[in-house]
Amino acid sequence: MIDVLIVGGGGAGLRAAIAVAEQDPACKVAVVSKVYPMRSHTVSAEGGAAAVIDIGDTLDEHCYDTISGGDWLCDQDAVEAFVAEAPRELIQLEHWGCPWSREGDGRVAVRPFGGMKRERTWYAADKTGFHLLHTLFQTTLKYQDIIRYDEWYVTKLVVDDGRVHGVVAVEIRTGRIETIPARTVILATGGCGRVFPFTTNAAIKTGDGMALAYREGAPLKDMEFVQYHPTGLPFTGILITEAARAEGGWLINKDGYRYLQDYDLGTPTPTPKLRSMELGPRDRLSQAFVHEQHKGRTADTPYGPVVYLDLRHLGESKIDSRIPFVRELCRSYQNLDPATDLIPVRPVVHYMMGGVHTDIDGATPIAGLYAAGETACVSINGANRLGSNSLPEILVFGRRAALAAAEFARAHRDGEPRAVRTQGEDERRLLEREREGRRTGERVADLRERMQHTLEGAAGIYRTGDVLAKAVDTLADLRARAEEVRFDDTGVAFNTELLNLLELRTMLEVAQTIVACALNRQESRGAHQRTDFTARDDDSFLAHSLVHRAPDGTPSVGLLPVTITRWPPGERVYGR
Ligand SMILES: Cc1cc2nc3c(=O)[nH]c(=O)nc-3n(C[C@H](O)[C@H](O)[C@H](O)COP(=O)(O)OP(=O)(O)OC[C@H]3O[C@@H](n4cnc5c(N)ncnc54)[C@H](O)[C@@H]3O)c2cc1C
Repeated sequence: MIDVLIVGGGGAGLRAAIAVAEQDPACKVAVVSKVYPMRSHTVSAEGGAAAVIDIGDTLDEHCYDTISGGDWLCDQDAVEAFVAEAPRELIQLEHWGCPWSREGDGRVAVRPFGGMKRERTWYAADKTGFHLLHTLFQTTLKYQDIIRYDEWYVTKLVVDDGRVHGVVAVEIRTGRIETIPARTVILATGGCGRVFPFTTNAAIKTGDGMALAYREGAPLKDMEFVQYHPTGLPFTGILITEAARAEGGWLINKDGYRYLQDYDLGTPTPTPKLRSMELGPRDRLSQAFVHEQHKGRTADTPYGPVVYLDLRHLGESKIDSRIPFVRELCRSYQNLDPATDLIPVRPVVHYMMGGVHTDIDGATPIAGLYAAGETACVSINGANRLGSNSLPEILVFGRRAALAAAEFARAHRDGEPRAVRTQGEDERRLLEREREGRRTGERVADLRERMQHTLEGAAGIYRTGDVLAKAVDTLADLRARAEEVRFDDTGVAFNTELLNLLELRTMLEVAQTIVACALNRQESRGAHQRTDFTARDDDSFLAHSLVHRAPDGTPSVGLLPVTITRWPPGERVYGR
């Protein structure tokens, strides 16, 4: 039987697989991924990965930036472990072949990043995710014993008596439905940006792991915290990395004015290179955009209002050496050249701070079930993630979850319970029934669009109680309708209609938790801004939201205390 079954072949999943294979060659590891691993979203990360390296920097400062950036909702024990282990992970990647960019004297180069008071973001030009994932993938190939299920879609976790026993999955190419028994399962399925209409996230980021865990009784945490990135290309949502501003880019409104000077983003920071208002934290920058829009200072385009990112003063050679991918993306997708033209940008959904509730070793409340990466909430990101903390997070917690899972598997060598067969057969029957087709009902795509616009309207950059309450009803209605959709493809090979349907149901459940948590949190903190409760309220809400699935299938929200170790809650100031 498989000891550690990892769902997800992105950065978190592959790092976990290597950790198990390296530590215990006798431990049987498998990676299941709905896309070929190199196509996971990690590949598209651009700007870099944060870890203390410079002599002037300290672990405590990285902790402080992360915690204050997260508006004191991070668990500080998790942040301390993360910050301490991140440098080792990035050096390890170097040893496995990751081509980190260098300074002229050979030292690893670092760049400033939003909300970080020191320069500690390592990068490989502006294709960091590509090089990072490639490095991990080629390293997994050294371990021939890692079993791979490429292009298999996991539809269900087998859970019996509070313990996980494997998964049910469909092989996309053949339609074969199989139960894969396992002693432990690590969910490394990434985020859920696709519940919104306008996102930087790949089409595969549909929150599957979150829904798989939630349906079996594991709670999700801090789901109301959705990060908007301030600079996406209108229409496509393609990300223009924060590195463009780190290298000196400006944000200007339709009058050519650097509008961020009018907003409270914190006071200037110590190093001259960081003294750029454009490097404020993402939540504050996205909120400033909305105010500019209300003041009539954004420009209208067929794809909504925009401001401009100005890189012209950086010059061609800096753009080509430091952020070549930005130029490539602008030329290919926006038909402009940032060396001579302004880039139109607008805030775009980018990252989920929330996810499956885990402890510091990735363990969920279901025995043997772990989660790591964007699908998990440990939590080191609190109410607002700092850019470049996510790549080291998937490495640090991918490894930690893997070691904890392997230990669990070694301690539980018992055989397979009957539930594995019965639950597997039930799931097969359900999936086969879907594939019989349905001539009536609505289209998956129509319901998906309704869901996405409901989320944008209710749980966007600014939220309000009335609209959130209406969204609760709309989503409940959409969920019922998603059980009866029209279904045409009765084939087994590459039945993408079936995948789209399963992903829609997944996203609807995740969307319900986002809205329920946002409605419950009657305060404004980080990325969660309520126009009817504009202040942060530490007395009532210095706590994580924890959402369970009630027996009737609706989300039920409670609160969980935040772990504070050394940094008592304070104001978010960026000039200390
Ligand atoms: C455009 C972009 C740029 C970014 N840039 C940066 C950056 O510069 N720095 C930074 O720190 N962070 C960045 N981020 C965030 C960061 O890249 C992600 O949070 C991180 O890579 C997520 O990694 P992961 O391993 O958790 O998930 P992913 O890389 O998303 O992988 C998820 C895996 O799960 C699999 N999967 C999902 N559902 C199923 C299922 N049902 N069955 C089987 N398999 C399944 C998928 O096939 C995939 O292999 C960026 C994000 C985006 C979108």
